[in-house]
Amino acid sequence: MNDRAALVTGANKGIGRHIAGQLAAEGFTVYVGARDADRGRRAVAEIGDRARLLVLDVTDPDGIARAAAQVDHLDVLVNNAGVNPSLAPPTESDAEEFRRAYETNVVGVLEVTNAFLPALRRSRHPRIVNISSGTSSLTWSTSPNPQFAPGRPGSAAYRAAKTALNALTLLYAQSLADEGFKVNALAPGLRATDLVPGVRDRGGDPAEGAEGAVRLALLPDDGPTGRFFSWDGTEVPW
Ligand code: NAP
Repeated sequence: MNDRAALVTGANKGIGRHIAGQLAAEGFTVYVGARDADRGRRAVAEIGDRARLLVLDVTDPDGIARAAAQVDHLDVLVNNAGVNPSLAPPTESDAEEFRRAYETNVVGVLEVTNAFLPALRRSRHPRIVNISSGTSSLTWSTSPNPQFAPGRPGSAAYRAAKTALNALTLLYAQSLADEGFKVNALAPGLRATDLVPGVRDRGGDPAEGAEGAVRLALLPDDGPTGRFFSWDGTEVPW
């Protein structure tokens, strides 16, 4: 099984860097997706022999095509690259913040996934993991969950984009079910990264969130598809 290959977008730091490292430890050849080659090279050096740099800005269609042309075979795609352009509620958001959130977190996932589908179709066990967020769950956002309850409508652009990503996850799962794909979304939990100011002080270990992505990347052929899971393996309601 040592010829398995995985691509993690936004893998130069944060949760993505840990997902890439953990997949390499599982024996995968890992393409470390990074929009900046120097930052990507540093992560490749840290991860070791199984890591390969793949320069990839998920908002650059020409760059995505160039990257996809370098990868012949892929077993796992982790759409991890993400941005949160603003902590504002919708009443204080502007269209540009929404465009930026959707461009990376939704359209970027669509373009990367479609570009790498030919390589994934050469796998006998293709898996796609979309890194979403618990804050995108409409059920949690309308329930007494203290983290996301009504009255805390911040990060509107980010959360709406991740809810759209959840829909995309379900539709990809349905589109590809007959070809043996497993396509699932992950809520990695609040993690100490650079995603938003202050989250480094409040978040937990990003390596722990990454473990949830690796679990979904290694799903058996009778595993779930078109579902939304938390990092600890429990299901998240849409
Ligand atoms: P992070 O430390 O800011 O890392 C984000 C990664 O995405 C970086 O490698 C960044 O590259 C990359 N990226 C951003 N835009 C990109 C683009 N256009 N093309 C390619 N790469 C791009 O944040 P993180 O927390 O690890 O976030 C990883 C994922 O987890 C995101 O999808 C995020 O929404 C999700 N998530 C995080 C948390 C949390 O608490 N941290 C919670 C729920 C979900 P640069 O270094 O070049 O900027």
